[in-house]
Amino acid sequence: MKKYNFSAGPSILPQYTIDQTAAAVKDLDGIGLSILEMSHRSKEYEAINRETASLFKEILSIPEGYQVIFVGGGASTQFFTVPYNLLQTKAAYLVTGDWAKKAAKEAKIFGEVEIVASSEDKLYNYIPRDYTVPQDVDYFHITSNNTIFGTQIKEDLEVGVPLVADMSSDIFSRPVDISKYALIYGGAQKNLAPAGMTFVIIKEDILGKVDRQLPTMVDYRTHIKKESAFNTPPVVVIYAALQTLKWLKQLGGVEAIEKINIEKAKVLYDEIERNKMFAPTIMNEMDRSIMNIPFVMAEGYKELEGDFLKFATEQGMVSIKGHRSVGGFRASLYNAMPIESVKALTACMQAFEAKH
Ligand SMILES: *Cc1c(COP(=O)(O)O)cnc(C)c1O
Repeated sequence: MKKYNFSAGPSILPQYTIDQTAAAVKDLDGIGLSILEMSHRSKEYEAINRETASLFKEILSIPEGYQVIFVGGGASTQFFTVPYNLLQTKAAYLVTGDWAKKAAKEAKIFGEVEIVASSEDKLYNYIPRDYTVPQDVDYFHITSNNTIFGTQIKEDLEVGVPLVADMSSDIFSRPVDISKYALIYGGAQKNLAPAGMTFVIIKEDILGKVDRQLPTMVDYRTHIKKESAFNTPPVVVIYAALQTLKWLKQLGGVEAIEKINIEKAKVLYDEIERNKMFAPTIMNEMDRSIMNIPFVMAEGYKELEGDFLKFATEQGMVSIKGHRSVGGFRASLYNAMPIESVKALTACMQAFEAKH
């Protein structure tokens, strides 16, 4: 049976990425070696590494003065690596979800942290807008897309201080004005590749300003200088990321994918609002993520939650159960998900409605 993968992460990848990577696992470009057993010092891998970084920069239109590095440790490692490198006295954080809260917690190890606003009072179901960013901070940290709760900051903020963003779950989903940011990071496993690689986009002139000594592996300058090969990088994951980037470029890049993503989110939200059995958890349209869409059973149908999950699973829907802190359902519609798959889910919701 066809499966529709709505997982929040690791998540759906383009078939192209899977096919190309599978072929390279057998034999990379006919050289007689598997990508699994290749030295990261081989000329073949060096070319892959360079091409991945250059396509990454090209697709996101990353301006001069910025570097892109690929490191391990997941986005969670960046929660402390960012303040390690950038926090001298004080940083400001916007707390819009669990990931943002975790990032702020780590920063407190390195200096003063001001939480300028938090939406925790309403289970993170909105993006706070009524706050001011203190101008005496080393940086202001946001989480652009809140994977668990389904909210998203869709504009590039103007804040007057260096802006740092965790874009784990919406990088490459829309054009971003990189020049508005000092640093952007994210795990690969939401919209780019399998798990195991973290990208960091760094404005070079923000580095070297803290007094503390930095362990070599934590210092961004190490990885910039060594072009992401100071130590052994996740070779296969970077190869897979390159395939996704090629796929995305072929499709028309971030401008083209944004249109498709907006359309996909609309198809699902329209059905959630039309169908009497379901209700959205994010009410303000402006705050709704186009990547992760949570919804619950409407009043009067709450007891059917388990039934719908079973019904949808039988029809091939995978990983639509909501995060335990929100309940209900969550459909993640990352770049690789075709609109037909979203329509399969809405058809399933309609069939469930017709049954009751
Ligand atoms: C998944 C996710 C993380 C955690 O990523 P890891 O790579 O598992 O550390 C952090 N931030 C956001 C926004 C996420 O979606």
